[in-house]
Amino acid sequence: MKQMKLDDYNFEIHFTRRFPASKQEMWEKRLREILNYFPELRGRTTRKLKVGIIDQSLIAAGRAKDTDQIWVRMDASVWTVAHEVTHLVQAVQYEDGVPKEDRIPFGEKACDIYTLARSRDLLDQPPHYLKLPFHVRFSSWPNWAGICHRVAKEAVERRRSGLRNYIKWFETRIDNISTDLELENTYRGYVLKGIPLEEMFG
Ligand SMILES: [Zn+2]
Repeated sequence: MKQMKLDDYNFEIHFTRRFPASKQEMWEKRLREILNYFPELRGRTTRKLKVGIIDQSLIAAGRAKDTDQIWVRMDASVWTVAHEVTHLVQAVQYEDGVPKEDRIPFGEKACDIYTLARSRDLLDQPPHYLKLPFHVRFSSWPNWAGICHRVAKEAVERRRSGLRNYIKWFETRIDNISTDLELENTYRGYVLKGIPLEEMFG
């Protein structure tokens, strides 16, 4: 078991026994980089946040435990770690009595939206819980990460101004954008093939 203080974060990293020593340094660096996107957790001394890196036998890539620990699999993506750290923010904000409109609501979809909204840099994988069109999730995520980040930011803003259904709003907005883009691509395809527009719409 190894414990490490991450800058001004009161985190401990716990590596399991079978975790290869050669990968520990890489993971410490990675966690430090990811945590830099979560200033809310900085300088908290009231509780210890434990980050467990565990071997690949765990079925889920990550999970938050007892609101003050997260465990991630050693092959977890940046996204998975960021999503789990967002669960810690949910707990910390609740504990601190952050006003409702500024707080990340509990729930997996809320966690996904607020993680998407935080930074494009954390989005190496699509979110697990939000409903996304098939090709957004499976065939062109790198192209969609930036769009999802911007739309998620807007959803968070809208929620702050009173929109209750901000999750549905996000999912519908992404669905609409993807339909529009598909249409545009089809249209571009026709133009490239030299087919007259009258024929296309006739
Ligand atoms: Zn979660």
